[in-house]
Amino acid sequence: MTSSTIPCPLCAGSAVALTLPHPSRSMLSDGRVIPRALAKMSCLTCGSAFHASSTADDDIRAIYEDGYELATTAPKSDAARARAYGDWIRTEFNPPNAVLEIGCGSGALLSELLRTWPDARACGVDPALPATAQSQQRLKLVRGFIDDVPAGAGPFDLIVAVNVIEHTTNPSNFLRSLRDHLAPNGYIVIVCPDGHSPNVELMFFDHLYSLTRGGLRICGRGAALATEKQLPAPSTVGDFLMSVFAAQIDDRYTPALRDTDPARLHSERQSYLERWRTLDQFLLDQSRSAAGLLTFGAGQTAALLRAYAPKTWTRIDSLVLDDPPEAWDLGRSVASYRDAVQNPGQAILIATAPPAQQAVARRLERDGLQPITWNELIPR
Ligand SMILES: [Zn+2]
Repeated sequence: MTSSTIPCPLCAGSAVALTLPHPSRSMLSDGRVIPRALAKMSCLTCGSAFHASSTADDDIRAIYEDGYELATTAPKSDAARARAYGDWIRTEFNPPNAVLEIGCGSGALLSELLRTWPDARACGVDPALPATAQSQQRLKLVRGFIDDVPAGAGPFDLIVAVNVIEHTTNPSNFLRSLRDHLAPNGYIVIVCPDGHSPNVELMFFDHLYSLTRGGLRICGRGAALATEKQLPAPSTVGDFLMSVFAAQIDDRYTPALRDTDPARLHSERQSYLERWRTLDQFLLDQSRSAAGLLTFGAGQTAALLRAYAPKTWTRIDSLVLDDPPEAWDLGRSVASYRDAVQNPGQAILIATAPPAQQAVARRLERDGLQPITWNELIPR
């Protein structure tokens, strides 16, 4: 592939094409496979990654209105995630009067925050608000986008958007629309995957941007927001970054001159995507002698295997996990791990996040099973 150069929509620097992990298909972050190649670019100035062709706002709206279901698919994971994010946000902020969350999912994070902020009220907006989500006295939940925040609900002294900005077609415009709802002296808290090095989030088609710290600060400036601080997430949350913005003129946060090396990041992304491109053959080689194949795990990582290792996926008979009700619907039967463990020697393809695969493999080996890992190819 020739690497044609196009301007970065964030910083106008030169961006170059990245390898396709599959020639004709990719995946949305809720697991759906779509017939569009993952053609992304990597900016050699700010280090951000983005799509080679601009995706229309209507395309993106369609993704969420057409059954985006991350929050409701796995209720326990949703609650655990809300607790982890709630703990993280609480350590950074004093109790506000009013909180707005854009992309609130089921409202679990707002409920978690209100639990320890008894005098605060909250409003949450999400295009895929579950039908079961109910507004309560201090918590108003609305189905929709930022334009649908009820008139008179604000202003808000804390505005939170967790894992939203990377889905927006124009991150600066998104921040500006949040700023319109911000009280004087309030803060905007943006949590997104930390773009400092490639990981699975690069594989999601609906992540329109992989943002670096520098890229986020550029977006903030474009929205007349000062970057107060940028913090990596605690390990309970994962490989995410919190950026705190304030509607103030002075930029008090002075980061290291270059906290990202865009050329290094480009070559790491290139190598990362090439590994995904070879994953299917790698797994076919690893599982060749197995009569039948199960996966351990039935969430986002299993969905990634379905999307990017399709030949291997056709060999999967069923998905096993400790807690079957948490399984995503991936078109395979789901079984409890306790039942699968009854077949000694059974080959099991590990479908948990790469950093956890060795620990899972040791457990499966102790149970007499034959785990197949792939974190040696794709470590994160
Ligand atoms: Zn750039």
